[in-house]
Amino acid sequence: MDFGPRAGKASHTAAGERRVCPRCRSKALALQRRHVSPARLGEPLTTEYYECEACDAAWQYSPAQERWKPVST
Ligand SMILES: [Zn+2]
Repeated sequence: MDFGPRAGKASHTAAGERRVCPRCRSKALALQRRHVSPARLGEPLTTEYYECEACDAAWQYSPAQERWKPVST
């Protein structure tokens, strides 16, 4: 029943990825989550969601199109 002190470490390895914010140009965009559409709908489409820690903007990014779209909250 001992999972050790390293249990859960893997869930933090994706953090630290930073991109430049299209609005304030700070390298402060933190990846919040990544969504991949189901393969049965055709070519899988990846959408990534970012939040800027500098200006509080939220963005939706499509790697396939390299397009940023603001997310209204
Ligand atoms: Zn920003």
